Amino acid sequence: MEKNIPLEQAPPSYNSTQQQNSNLNQAQPLIVAQPQFVQVLPNVLGMVPSMATCPSCGVRRKTKVEFEPSTKTHLLAMLICLVGGICCCCIPYCSPTCQSAKHTCESCGAYVGTYKN
Ligand SMILES: [Zn+2]
Repeated sequence: MEKNIPLEQAPPSYNSTQQQNSNLNQAQPLIVAQPQFVQVLPNVLGMVPSMATCPSCGVRRKTKVEFEPSTKTHLLAMLICLVGGICCCCIPYCSPTCQSAKHTCESCGAYVGTYKN
């Protein structure tokens, strides 16, 4: 009654061939093709003057903020006019939080972006 089973000690080695194929796919050349627009950091604009890169002169510095009424401001004014009367409808135009902030470059005055809340 002697049974020698040596087959279980030698599993088929197909793992090594699969690893070689995956290494070949990772070796792709990096494509860096942005000759004109060098974006260093995205412009994160808010209600206050923010650090932004000017699209015109390329200088990164604090923007100048002007508040101007948006569609939401007019709608809010109409709503307040209906609810609170004609006297209160100018409140959204006086409050910066109800308007959109228009950012311009301090160097050249170019338009950078608008923050809408
Ligand atoms: Zn500029």
